[in-house]
Amino acid sequence: MDSHDVQADLKHVLYSQEQIQERVAELAAQIDADYAGRDVLLVGVLKGAVMVMADLARALHSHVTMDWMAVSSYGSGTQSSGVVRILKDLETDLMGKHVLIVEDIIDSGLTLSWLKTNLISRGPASVEICTLLRKPQAAKVEIDVKYVGYEIPSEFVVGYGLDFAERYRNLDFIGTLAPHIYE
Ligand code: IMP
Ligand code: MG
Repeated sequence: MDSHDVQADLKHVLYSQEQIQERVAELAAQIDADYAGRDVLLVGVLKGAVMVMADLARALHSHVTMDWMAVSSYGSGTQSSGVVRILKDLETDLMGKHVLIVEDIIDSGLTLSWLKTNLISRGPASVEICTLLRKPQAAKVEIDVKYVGYEIPSEFVVGYGLDFAERYRNLDFIGTLAPHIYE
């Protein structure tokens, strides 16, 4: 879907498909350089990271393997609690591997902070994080994120994997919703 398909639902477009592709290619070049000669396991966090994982993996010039995890934060509403439940675990043994977690967005940072600690406990050679978007609130949590696509304001965004009530994940851009959608 593009912005014409959801025009009535939109407040504004934050990043177009072209802008996202360009930024993802820059991140990929950085990752290629940093991991030169080493095999990387990309760990995508379902479901939001599907689009960024697909584009990032294809923009890389190095061999990578891919695996997926699904996690859910306990607690109701839109606030993440930091208590995380694994809904789908990795199929890969992390022992000795260079792991790069791929995320769509970091808001409170609580989910990723928990996830990073969990993956480190499995004996990998390294664990780093790549996120397409990061909100300012994330700065409050001690979490080292090596690759960030865009720093965005604290506003709810959808598209390119990100959902509101499971919709809008298939938008080819990132945008904000008109208030009448969520009010
Ligand atoms: P946190 O960093 O633990 O607060 O949780 C981050 C998760 O919340 C992300 O992986 C998304 O699934 C979801 N999330 C946070 N902000 C947004 C947003 O603006 N739009 C859509 N999902 C979001
Ligand atoms: Mg997510």
